[in-house]
Amino acid sequence: MFEIKKLNVSQFESLFSSDESCLKFIADQKWADGFVCRKCGHTNFCKGKTAYSRRCTRCKSEESVTANTIFHRCHIPITEAFKMVYMVCHDPEISSYELSRQLEKRQMTCWKLKAKLMECIEKKGEIDLLYK
Ligand SMILES: [Zn+2]
Repeated sequence: MFEIKKLNVSQFESLFSSDESCLKFIADQKWADGFVCRKCGHTNFCKGKTAYSRRCTRCKSEESVTANTIFHRCHIPITEAFKMVYMVCHDPEISSYELSRQLEKRQMTCWKLKAKLMECIEKKGEIDLLYK
């Protein structure tokens, strides 16, 4: 991904400082070509229960903004996850210990997301938000 790599630290921090801005960014990428329900293929939706989630107006199934993205089942706040993406974009060699120290998150948590980011880089050549 993309644009994040080109930002300097202060640009990054001003753009992705809130949950709101991170989630909106994911939603914009994820549904760039419009919403398609994964269950029934319907394209009409209304707002879901959580921020930026979408609910199919036909079968009522709801998709959260992070479902089917690289942040799926990521148990740290989205702003921290974005920071980690930023850090790994700039230094793919960074260790999960270093991420853990800088972000003040458990090393295992950092290791898991880092492993997913690296897998994505290996397969796609860059970090793709929509990689699952
Ligand atoms: Zn549906």
